[in-house]
Amino acid sequence: MKVKRVQQAETELRARLNLAGIESPSLEAQLLLAMCIRGSRLDILRDPQRKLTQDEMIHLEELASAREMRIPLARLRGTQEFYGLTFKVSAETLIPRPETEMLVEIAIEKLSSKQTAILADIGTGSGCILIASLTHLPNVQGVAVEISSDALQTAKRNARLHGVEDRIVYRLSSMLQSFENSSLDMIVSNPPYIPEHDIETLEPEVRLYDPHRALSGGVDGFDFHRELVREASRCLKPDGWLALEMGIGQANGLLTLLRDQGFTQVKTLSDLAGIERVAVGQSCIH
Ligand code: GLN
Repeated sequence: MKVKRVQQAETELRARLNLAGIESPSLEAQLLLAMCIRGSRLDILRDPQRKLTQDEMIHLEELASAREMRIPLARLRGTQEFYGLTFKVSAETLIPRPETEMLVEIAIEKLSSKQTAILADIGTGSGCILIASLTHLPNVQGVAVEISSDALQTAKRNARLHGVEDRIVYRLSSMLQSFENSSLDMIVSNPPYIPEHDIETLEPEVRLYDPHRALSGGVDGFDFHRELVREASRCLKPDGWLALEMGIGQANGLLTLLRDQGFTQVKTLSDLAGIERVAVGQSCIH
Protein backbone atom coordinates (compact mmCIF):
# COMPACT_ATOMS: atom_id res chain seq x y z
CA MET A 1 0.00 0.00 0.00
CA LYS A 2 1.35 3.41 -0.95
CA VAL A 3 2.03 5.56 2.10
CA LYS A 4 -0.43 8.39 2.59
CA ARG A 5 -0.42 11.53 4.63
CA VAL A 6 -3.30 12.44 6.95
CA GLN A 7 -4.51 15.28 4.74
CA GLN A 8 -4.66 13.18 1.60
CA ALA A 9 -6.35 10.31 3.43
CA GLU A 10 -8.93 12.76 4.78
CA THR A 11 -9.68 14.22 1.34
CA GLU A 12 -10.10 10.78 -0.22
CA LEU A 13 -12.22 9.50 2.64
CA ARG A 14 -14.49 12.55 2.51
CA ALA A 15 -15.11 11.92 -1.19
CA ARG A 16 -15.88 8.24 -0.59
CA LEU A 17 -18.30 8.98 2.22
CA ASN A 18 -19.99 11.68 0.17
CA LEU A 19 -20.47 9.23 -2.68
CA ALA A 20 -21.94 6.68 -0.26
CA GLY A 21 -24.63 9.22 0.70
CA ILE A 22 -23.35 9.96 4.22
CA GLU A 23 -24.90 13.16 5.56
CA SER A 24 -21.81 14.81 7.14
CA PRO A 25 -18.87 13.44 5.15
CA SER A 26 -16.30 16.00 6.37
CA LEU A 27 -17.00 15.47 10.05
CA GLU A 28 -17.21 11.72 9.71
CA ALA A 29 -13.99 11.52 7.67
CA GLN A 30 -12.19 13.27 10.53
CA LEU A 31 -13.81 11.08 13.17
CA LEU A 32 -12.93 7.87 11.31
CA LEU A 33 -9.39 9.06 10.75
CA ALA A 34 -9.12 9.96 14.44
CA MET A 35 -10.25 6.43 15.32
CA CYS A 36 -7.67 4.87 13.07
CA ILE A 37 -4.77 6.90 14.52
CA ARG A 38 -6.20 6.38 18.03
CA GLY A 39 -6.30 10.11 18.55
CA SER A 40 -8.72 13.00 18.30
CA ARG A 41 -9.92 15.28 15.51
CA LEU A 42 -7.53 17.86 16.91
CA ASP A 43 -4.56 15.55 16.20
CA ILE A 44 -5.62 15.44 12.56
CA LEU A 45 -5.96 19.20 12.26
CA ARG A 46 -2.68 19.75 14.10
CA ASP A 47 -0.52 17.51 11.94
CA PRO A 48 -2.02 17.05 8.47
CA GLN A 49 1.35 16.07 6.98
CA ARG A 50 1.86 13.11 9.32
CA LYS A 51 2.36 9.85 7.44
CA LEU A 52 -0.01 7.01 8.21
CA THR A 53 1.59 3.69 9.18
CA GLN A 54 0.74 0.50 7.25
CA ASP A 55 -1.42 -0.69 10.16
CA GLU A 56 -3.27 2.60 10.30
CA MET A 57 -3.92 2.46 6.56
CA ILE A 58 -5.31 -1.06 6.84
CA HIS A 59 -7.51 -0.01 9.77
CA LEU A 60 -8.68 3.05 7.87
CA GLU A 61 -9.64 0.95 4.85
CA GLU A 62 -11.70 -1.36 7.08
CA LEU A 63 -13.48 1.56 8.68
CA ALA A 64 -14.09 3.30 5.36
CA SER A 65 -15.63 0.25 3.71
CA ALA A 66 -17.77 -0.45 6.79
CA ARG A 67 -19.07 3.11 6.76
CA GLU A 68 -19.68 2.92 2.99
CA MET A 69 -21.97 -0.01 3.82
CA ARG A 70 -23.76 2.48 6.10
CA ILE A 71 -22.76 0.77 9.34
CA PRO A 72 -23.30 3.70 11.74
CA LEU A 73 -20.28 5.47 13.16
CA ALA A 74 -21.54 4.77 16.69
CA ARG A 75 -21.45 1.02 15.98
CA LEU A 76 -17.90 1.27 14.62
CA ARG A 77 -16.81 3.23 17.69
CA GLY A 78 -18.94 1.14 20.05
CA THR A 79 -20.12 4.29 21.82
CA GLN A 80 -22.53 7.19 21.46
CA GLU A 81 -22.83 10.49 23.32
CA PHE A 82 -26.16 11.12 25.02
CA TYR A 83 -27.03 13.88 27.46
CA GLY A 84 -23.33 14.74 27.75
CA LEU A 85 -22.35 11.18 28.72
CA THR A 86 -20.71 8.41 26.71
CA PHE A 87 -22.75 5.20 26.37
CA LYS A 88 -21.57 1.82 25.13
CA VAL A 89 -23.78 0.32 22.44
CA SER A 90 -24.09 -3.28 21.25
CA ALA A 91 -25.77 -5.05 18.36
CA GLU A 92 -28.83 -5.53 20.59
CA THR A 93 -29.21 -1.87 21.59
CA LEU A 94 -30.61 1.03 19.69
CA ILE A 95 -28.11 3.85 19.22
CA PRO A 96 -29.27 6.61 21.58
CA ARG A 97 -30.71 9.57 19.68
CA PRO A 98 -30.67 13.25 20.62
CA GLU A 99 -34.48 13.64 20.68
CA THR A 100 -34.68 10.96 23.39
CA GLU A 101 -32.84 13.37 25.72
CA MET A 102 -36.24 15.06 26.20
CA LEU A 103 -37.34 12.12 28.34
CA VAL A 104 -34.37 12.72 30.63
CA GLU A 105 -35.30 16.37 30.99
CA ILE A 106 -38.86 15.48 31.93
CA ALA A 107 -37.76 12.87 34.47
CA ILE A 108 -35.45 15.42 36.09
CA GLU A 109 -38.20 18.06 36.12
CA LYS A 110 -40.77 15.74 37.70
CA LEU A 111 -38.56 14.00 40.26
CA SER A 112 -35.87 16.46 41.36
CA SER A 113 -37.90 17.85 44.26
CA LYS A 114 -38.70 14.38 45.68
CA GLN A 115 -36.99 13.08 48.83
CA THR A 116 -37.16 9.60 47.39
CA ALA A 117 -38.71 8.10 44.27
CA ILE A 118 -38.66 5.11 41.94
CA LEU A 119 -38.22 5.64 38.21
CA ALA A 120 -38.72 2.72 35.78
CA ASP A 121 -37.42 2.72 32.21
CA ILE A 122 -39.19 0.19 30.01
CA GLY A 123 -37.06 -1.16 27.15
CA THR A 124 -33.95 0.46 28.56
CA GLY A 125 -31.62 -0.66 25.73
CA SER A 126 -28.23 0.90 26.44
CA GLY A 127 -29.76 2.35 29.61
CA CYS A 128 -29.23 5.87 28.32
CA ILE A 129 -32.51 7.41 29.57
CA LEU A 130 -32.43 5.92 33.06
CA ILE A 131 -28.70 6.35 33.65
CA ALA A 132 -28.58 9.95 32.43
CA SER A 133 -31.61 10.74 34.61
CA LEU A 134 -30.14 9.12 37.73
CA THR A 135 -26.86 11.01 37.39
CA HIS A 136 -28.95 14.15 37.98
CA LEU A 137 -31.33 12.67 40.57
CA PRO A 138 -29.29 11.47 43.58
CA ASN A 139 -32.39 10.56 45.64
CA VAL A 140 -34.01 8.41 42.98
CA GLN A 141 -33.84 4.62 42.56
CA GLY A 142 -34.14 3.14 39.06
CA VAL A 143 -35.59 0.00 37.52
CA ALA A 144 -34.23 -0.97 34.11
CA VAL A 145 -36.56 -3.30 32.20
CA GLU A 146 -35.33 -4.93 29.02
CA ILE A 147 -36.25 -8.07 27.04
CA SER A 148 -32.78 -8.56 25.54
CA SER A 149 -30.28 -9.96 28.06
CA ASP A 150 -27.42 -8.67 25.91
CA ALA A 151 -28.85 -5.15 26.02
CA LEU A 152 -29.42 -5.43 29.78
CA GLN A 153 -25.73 -6.34 30.21
CA THR A 154 -24.80 -3.28 28.18
CA ALA A 155 -27.06 -1.14 30.37
CA LYS A 156 -25.33 -2.53 33.47
CA ARG A 157 -21.91 -1.72 32.06
CA ASN A 158 -23.06 1.80 31.28
CA ALA A 159 -24.53 2.22 34.78
CA ARG A 160 -21.18 1.14 36.26
CA LEU A 161 -19.35 3.54 33.96
CA HIS A 162 -21.46 6.43 35.25
CA GLY A 163 -21.51 5.39 38.91
CA VAL A 164 -25.22 4.65 39.29
CA GLU A 165 -25.26 0.81 39.15
CA ASP A 166 -26.06 0.48 42.86
CA ARG A 167 -29.24 2.49 42.48
CA ILE A 168 -30.66 0.35 39.65
CA VAL A 169 -32.58 -2.91 39.75
CA TYR A 170 -32.36 -4.83 36.45
CA ARG A 171 -35.31 -6.86 35.17
CA LEU A 172 -35.20 -9.14 32.14
CA SER A 173 -38.76 -8.60 30.99
CA SER A 174 -40.57 -6.84 28.19
CA MET A 175 -43.14 -4.78 30.03
CA LEU A 176 -44.61 -3.88 33.38
CA GLN A 177 -46.18 -7.24 34.35
CA SER A 178 -43.74 -7.86 37.19
CA PHE A 179 -44.52 -4.57 38.96
CA GLU A 180 -46.96 -4.26 41.82
CA ASN A 181 -49.94 -1.94 41.73
CA SER A 182 -49.21 1.70 42.64
CA SER A 183 -45.49 1.07 43.15
CA LEU A 184 -43.76 3.56 40.82
CA ASP A 185 -43.36 7.34 40.90
CA MET A 186 -42.54 7.64 37.24
CA ILE A 187 -42.30 5.53 34.11
CA VAL A 188 -40.32 6.55 31.04
CA SER A 189 -39.98 4.66 27.80
CA ASN A 190 -38.78 5.04 24.27
CA PRO A 191 -40.61 1.96 23.01
CA PRO A 192 -40.45 0.55 19.49
CA TYR A 193 -42.98 2.72 17.62
CA ILE A 194 -42.28 2.60 13.88
CA PRO A 195 -45.23 1.18 11.93
CA GLU A 196 -43.97 -2.09 10.43
CA HIS A 197 -44.44 -0.90 6.83
CA ASP A 198 -42.49 2.34 7.40
CA ILE A 199 -39.31 0.55 8.44
CA GLU A 200 -38.18 0.11 4.85
CA THR A 201 -38.29 3.90 4.35
CA LEU A 202 -35.82 4.62 7.18
CA GLU A 203 -32.20 5.54 6.56
CA PRO A 204 -29.94 2.47 6.08
CA GLU A 205 -28.06 3.07 9.36
CA VAL A 206 -31.31 2.50 11.26
CA ARG A 207 -33.09 0.06 8.93
CA LEU A 208 -30.14 -2.29 8.56
CA TYR A 209 -28.26 -1.96 11.83
CA ASP A 210 -30.61 -1.00 14.66
CA PRO A 211 -32.26 -4.09 16.14
CA HIS A 212 -35.59 -4.67 14.37
CA ARG A 213 -37.41 -5.45 17.60
CA ALA A 214 -36.29 -2.11 19.05
CA LEU A 215 -37.93 -0.32 16.11
CA SER A 216 -41.13 -2.08 15.13
CA GLY A 217 -44.32 -1.08 16.90
CA GLY A 218 -46.55 -3.42 14.89
CA VAL A 219 -48.97 -2.53 12.09
CA ASP A 220 -49.94 0.94 13.36
CA GLY A 221 -46.83 1.50 15.52
CA PHE A 222 -48.84 1.59 18.76
CA ASP A 223 -48.47 -2.02 19.97
CA PHE A 224 -46.13 -1.11 22.83
CA HIS A 225 -47.71 2.26 23.61
CA ARG A 226 -51.10 0.59 24.09
CA GLU A 227 -49.79 -1.92 26.59
CA LEU A 228 -47.53 0.60 28.32
CA VAL A 229 -50.31 3.12 28.89
CA ARG A 230 -52.69 0.44 30.20
CA GLU A 231 -50.13 -1.16 32.51
CA ALA A 232 -48.69 2.18 33.63
CA SER A 233 -52.04 3.31 34.97
CA ARG A 234 -51.98 0.23 37.23
CA CYS A 235 -48.32 0.45 38.34
CA LEU A 236 -47.99 4.19 38.93
CA LYS A 237 -48.66 5.70 42.32
CA PRO A 238 -51.57 8.17 42.38
CA ASP A 239 -50.18 11.36 40.79
CA GLY A 240 -47.19 9.47 39.31
CA TRP A 241 -45.97 10.46 35.84
CA LEU A 242 -45.70 8.65 32.53
CA ALA A 243 -43.53 10.02 29.69
CA LEU A 244 -43.34 8.22 26.35
CA GLU A 245 -41.46 8.91 23.15
CA MET A 246 -43.40 8.61 19.89
CA GLY A 247 -42.96 8.97 16.13
CA ILE A 248 -44.16 11.43 13.50
CA GLY A 249 -47.94 11.71 13.37
CA GLN A 250 -48.58 9.67 16.51
CA ALA A 251 -49.43 12.52 18.91
CA ASN A 252 -53.22 12.37 18.59
CA GLY A 253 -53.32 8.61 18.88
CA LEU A 254 -51.12 8.55 21.95
CA LEU A 255 -52.92 11.44 23.67
CA THR A 256 -56.20 9.59 23.16
CA LEU A 257 -54.71 6.41 24.66
CA LEU A 258 -53.55 8.39 27.71
CA ARG A 259 -56.88 10.18 28.22
CA ASP A 260 -58.89 7.00 27.74
CA GLN A 261 -56.83 5.39 30.46
CA GLY A 262 -57.60 8.26 32.84
CA PHE A 263 -54.32 10.17 32.69
CA THR A 264 -54.58 13.89 33.43
CA GLN A 265 -52.38 16.92 32.62
CA VAL A 266 -51.79 15.20 29.30
CA LYS A 267 -49.59 17.08 26.83
CA THR A 268 -47.00 16.63 24.10
CA LEU A 269 -43.56 18.19 23.71
CA SER A 270 -41.85 18.83 20.39
CA ASP A 271 -38.25 18.12 19.48
CA LEU A 272 -35.85 20.57 17.81
CA ALA A 273 -37.22 19.59 14.39
CA GLY A 274 -40.70 20.66 15.55
CA ILE A 275 -42.01 17.08 15.67
CA GLU A 276 -44.26 16.18 18.60
CA ARG A 277 -41.91 13.62 20.10
CA VAL A 278 -42.93 12.97 23.70
CA ALA A 279 -46.29 12.59 25.44
CA VAL A 280 -46.59 13.13 29.20
CA GLY A 281 -49.45 12.43 31.56
CA GLN A 282 -50.16 12.15 35.26
CA SER A 283 -51.77 9.13 36.77
CA CYS A 284 -55.19 9.88 38.27
CA ILE A 285 -55.94 9.24 41.93
CA HIS A 286 -57.19 5.64 41.91
N1 GLN B 1 -34.33 3.20 25.70
C1 GLN B 1 -33.40 2.95 24.68
C2 GLN B 1 -33.13 4.22 23.89
O1 GLN B 1 -33.86 5.15 23.97
C3 GLN B 1 -33.86 1.84 23.73
C4 GLN B 1 -35.19 2.11 23.09
C5 GLN B 1 -35.64 0.99 22.17
O2 GLN B 1 -34.97 -0.06 22.06
N2 GLN B 1 -36.75 1.19 21.53
O3 GLN B 1 -32.16 4.34 23.19
